[in-house]
Amino acid sequence: MTSTKLTAATLGSTQIQRANSLAEDVYEAIFNRLMSLNIPPGARITVDNLVKEFNVSHTPIREALGRLEGEGLVVKQHLVGYRAAPQITRRRFDELYQLRLLLEPDGAAKAATAMDDEKLAILQEAAGVMAKRDGQDERVHYATFARQDAIFHDRIMELAGNELIREILSFQHAHFHIFRLMFHWRVTEEALDEHQALLDAFAAGDAVAAARAMQLHIEHSRDRLLPAFE
Ligand SMILES: [Zn+2]
Repeated sequence: MTSTKLTAATLGSTQIQRANSLAEDVYEAIFNRLMSLNIPPGARITVDNLVKEFNVSHTPIREALGRLEGEGLVVKQHLVGYRAAPQITRRRFDELYQLRLLLEPDGAAKAATAMDDEKLAILQEAAGVMAKRDGQDERVHYATFARQDAIFHDRIMELAGNELIREILSFQHAHFHIFRLMFHWRVTEEALDEHQALLDAFAAGDAVAAARAMQLHIEHSRDRLLPAFE
């Protein structure tokens, strides 16, 4: 991978890992801060401050904030400006997990039934990115993990074959909201073992084991994050 002309210096303390467009880099930098609670839920986000901090024009900042708004991570208020989206409520949290438990274990079973070497390789690759640290700082790693987890689960639903169900889950941006509840190593480390159990079931083409592994993964994820509401 070639390095961009953007360096850590031009984007504040944020390390840029990939060769991206300026807009993409700015988006990633703000995304990382939101996911790792460096910008806490509900906090005001001032375009002018970001312009100064990243030493870029207003355009990529506004573009990034618009994209984050679409992902439910940022809210724009008339005459007030941007804020980090508030934390999801306990009720919403329960609803999200109920939705996931209804749809994802069944999706995993269908994906297992449809599995072949090529599809398995795609899922293994998606899961593999999460295991890599690549010397990333904790904040970047956490945000990367959140995004990859969303991609991994979306790939499974894609293989399950019901596009409407996939869209319903994807539209919730559940992974972004869930990961933003708590910035903690357990959220990432324990999920890796659970993903491996899923991959093993997929490799065996075992629908029952895949459904069970997905159910356990979602239940454990819920239990890991519940303390955020205490
Ligand atoms: Zn997961």
